[in-house]
Amino acid sequence: MHAEPDYHELGLRVGIEVHQQLNTQHKLFCRCPVTLREKEDSCMKFSRFLRATKSELGEEDAAAREEMARSRKFTYRFYDSTCLVEADEEPPGELNREALMIALEIALLLNMNVVQEVHTMRKIVVDGSNTTGFQRTALIAMDGYVDVEGERIGIDTLCLEEEAAQKIGEMEGGIEYSLDRLGIPLVEIGTTPEIKTPQQAKAVAETIGMILRSTEKIKRGLGTIRQDVNVSIRDGARVEIKGVQELELLDKIVKNEVIRQINLLKIRDRLRERKAEVVKEIFDVTEIFHKTESKILRKNLKKGGIFAILLKGFSGIVGEEIVPGRRLGTEFADIARMFGLGGIFHTDELPGYGISSDEIEKLREQVGAEKNDCVVMAGGETSRVISALKRIIDRAEYALMGVPEETRRALDDGTTAYLRPLPGAARMYPETDVPPVRITEEMIENIKLPELIEDRIERFMKTYGLNRDLATLIGRSGKHALFEELVKDGHQPSLVIRTLEMLPSEIEREGYRTSNLRDDHFRMIFKLLKDGKIAKEGIEEILKKFCENPELSLEEIEQELGGAGLDELERFIRDLVNQKSALIEERGKGAFSPLMGLVMKEFRGKIDGKTISEILMTEIEKFLEKK
Ligand SMILES: [Zn+2]
Repeated sequence: MHAEPDYHELGLRVGIEVHQQLNTQHKLFCRCPVTLREKEDSCMKFSRFLRATKSELGEEDAAAREEMARSRKFTYRFYDSTCLVEADEEPPGELNREALMIALEIALLLNMNVVQEVHTMRKIVVDGSNTTGFQRTALIAMDGYVDVEGERIGIDTLCLEEEAAQKIGEMEGGIEYSLDRLGIPLVEIGTTPEIKTPQQAKAVAETIGMILRSTEKIKRGLGTIRQDVNVSIRDGARVEIKGVQELELLDKIVKNEVIRQINLLKIRDRLRERKAEVVKEIFDVTEIFHKTESKILRKNLKKGGIFAILLKGFSGIVGEEIVPGRRLGTEFADIARMFGLGGIFHTDELPGYGISSDEIEKLREQVGAEKNDCVVMAGGETSRVISALKRIIDRAEYALMGVPEETRRALDDGTTAYLRPLPGAARMYPETDVPPVRITEEMIENIKLPELIEDRIERFMKTYGLNRDLATLIGRSGKHALFEELVKDGHQPSLVIRTLEMLPSEIEREGYRTSNLRDDHFRMIFKLLKDGKIAKEGIEEILKKFCENPELSLEEIEQELGGAGLDELERFIRDLVNQKSALIEERGKGAFSPLMGLVMKEFRGKIDGKTISEILMTEIEKFLEKK
């Protein structure tokens, strides 16, 4: 494991972009619901190729240019819950007001300045995740801040955007997307790049997440919040890492990126010492492999040919580890995969893959490789191989300069893979189909700001005497208001938390459908408890009954409990008193304890012990008076 680098010394700068889906009724520019679907439910599919769009200034974006070179076919799944807006067959409707109001609320919580007029823009999106070839985005607010562990971190911008379509499959030369997610409202919150350590990056993301959850107007669950991280060190480059879903990985990803940039700079220095050079020629080496034993190459040959490039002075460096499990060769392979190829071969890892030493000898000879040189080779459909190798030549040349500015994607192990060049500033232009919206003072004044979750946790500790764990459990829960309602009704705070939070997760593990439980179920349970009709030991059983049948009424629940109502109790006690009259005559009120034991044996968990003892005592007294 690498030791912790000195981030201050390295001049580390990190900025975070948080993307959070909003829980609105409708999508951002149409009336479709924001529900996600199973792909099997899709009623239709259609395909498109990406159209090249230039910005208003006529500039072409580097990321867009690369995507076009990749010439992939995009297939989209359409549902009965999507419409012609998602398919780009109909212009968008007006900006969703509900989403706008939530975005404004979040802006105020982040101490930001709200714009006077919201203008929807088009941001070029090149990966097919949008049927239009662009994503609609609107700047809502600027220049805010959050306080995190005693330091103030700037919030640059808050934008309201449409969520992209979800990728559901990838095959050679194409990608399949699902349109259900396209158009769900999303806020994008960007911090200034003044975060100085990986740990601080994680803490800032956690705080922003807490503020977003405090609104209770956001979508929850996997994939509903994603972080992008911008990382740079002195002499390195700005690298944007997309799609961090696990907050737990954020610090590891930043640290790995720092190590990657440090090692790329070391590689640059060594290549310069060796006077390394990238030959800008693509060699057709198909002939050499006509009779190859390599299964992969034989497969490649069927599709087209085998081509190679020469990296002078790169020997040993292409195969060297940069971060755990990743090498310069892995970066080349990422690029090849982007062009729909299976990967690459390089001489640092050969012989291997069934390629013989004799073939390698011939390969080196044909491209004119010397001892210190590395040969990189790829096979498949000729035009794809040529495009990919051109990009690999660019990437290899960049190794001589240092760290390329680029967009990468987060991997599950905390490393990252090449995704595309960093998009330029040339990618935004106005969306003329959506009218601008004025933000009035009245709109701002009508926003009622929620209590922040972290403030609520402190308040619960102080007001209800909870420890931090319990206060956090209920303070973060969607049932915090119900908790306060029940506690104000006289119930014990720890019992309420146990009933609202812990018992449901326990019985869920036993297979009960706790998603059926509603606030009213809990209110009924606490009413039964208050009326002495159940004991707290009986709560679990009733929760299970509500899971099985959420429509049960209070009366039905009482019957379900085996008729263990007060009537039955009184009858049981009167019979018992008659049966044991001898005992009572002998001991008087002293007969209470043995009789109580007998009643509890029958009614434990069904009726509260205090109620039982009161009734029993009354009946004993009545019996004694009658005598
Ligand atoms: Zn729609």
